[in-house]
Amino acid sequence: MLDYMIVGFGLAGLSFAEQLETNKKSYIVFEDASQKSSRVAGGLFNPVILKRFTAAWRATEQLDAAILFYTALERKLNQSFIHKFPILRRFNSIEEQNTWFQACDKPILNKFLSFDIVKNTYVGLDIPFHFGKVNHTGRIDITKMLAAYSKHLIEHQQLITTSFIHDKLRIEDTYVEYEGIKAKNVIFTEGFGMINNPFFEYLPLRGNKGEYVLIKCHQLDLKEAIKSSIFIIPLGDNIYKVGATYNNKDSTANHTQSAKEELIEKLDTFLKFPYEIVDQVAGIRPTTKDRKPFIGTHPEYANMHLLNGLGSRGVLIGPYVAKKLFEYLEYQQPLDREIDIQRFE
Ligand SMILES: Cc1cc2nc3c(=O)[nH]c(=O)nc-3n(C[C@H](O)[C@H](O)[C@H](O)COP(=O)(O)OP(=O)(O)OC[C@H]3O[C@@H](n4cnc5c(N)ncnc54)[C@H](O)[C@@H]3O)c2cc1C
Repeated sequence: MLDYMIVGFGLAGLSFAEQLETNKKSYIVFEDASQKSSRVAGGLFNPVILKRFTAAWRATEQLDAAILFYTALERKLNQSFIHKFPILRRFNSIEEQNTWFQACDKPILNKFLSFDIVKNTYVGLDIPFHFGKVNHTGRIDITKMLAAYSKHLIEHQQLITTSFIHDKLRIEDTYVEYEGIKAKNVIFTEGFGMINNPFFEYLPLRGNKGEYVLIKCHQLDLKEAIKSSIFIIPLGDNIYKVGATYNNKDSTANHTQSAKEELIEKLDTFLKFPYEIVDQVAGIRPTTKDRKPFIGTHPEYANMHLLNGLGSRGVLIGPYVAKKLFEYLEYQQPLDREIDIQRFE
């Protein structure tokens, strides 16, 4: 009898698996590569909402937890995933600069927002109103991290690479059973794949498709991520991720010509160096109606749980809510009402 089975191995599944390992719980993971959100994400960690210059939900708490979490994971898997660099927010007007200065004065933001306006030194970028600089930000190489963790799971025979068929799950009072595997609990971490999960279909998962183009630009040599109408995120070797789009009408997995055109049009307004498009990727963010995660236990089945709704900020939210869910399940620590799925009952 295992302690847990986890269905889905993106950021949510990995975050919960790591909670289990550090607390010496036994588990198995099912993963079928049907969703791509974590694997295509930009991987940015950034506690500030750059549209309005406000702090994201529980920003400081989440950032602290996330840095501890990813640092420990680097050590455990003996690889590096954390790339720290500032984000430069391009100002569109003098008014925006003034709004930035007001935001800098707010106690929750002054740790992150640099008070000095940063003049553009990149000759390939057209930035007439300069930048605001966000500190304590960077990128997690999620693809590399998931691959390293998957390898670790395979070595310990804890990864089953197949689709989990919900109808085959037998639910008993004290355990669940799936094709001969018994566990005390099942946790669903399926991202947007949750739309096929009959146990949680009552929850208002929305989904928002995002696409990036990857460009190669030899002359740019960016040291920071740039945020204009889109992000330019440096990946190394002159490759940059450019995006992302937001589309809540299309829930197909493929990348599209229209997204590519939208991104190129936006990029060409401020990148003046020549570049080559080398790839394009798409995924669906598991967004929710009230923009808060879906955490908690099924209303009827006490051994069935959910960790989903990480939206567009899974890098920061994932480790934080995984810990909250673990403490709720193992130590009966109450969940915040705003993330608990009981709010929809
Ligand atoms: C274009 C784009 C850019 C983004 N950029 C950022 C960013 O810069 N920073 C940030 O913090 N967040 C970003 N996000 C959001 C972030 O990617 C998500 O919050 C996060 O990936 C969600 O993780 P998840 O594990 O819940 O979902 P997923 O990554 O979708 O993982 C769910 C997993 O479950 C598996 N699965 C589903 N159903 C089944 C089943 N029945 N059986 C077996 N396996 C199953 C899927 O194959 C998948 O691997 C971005 C998202 C997109 C799409």
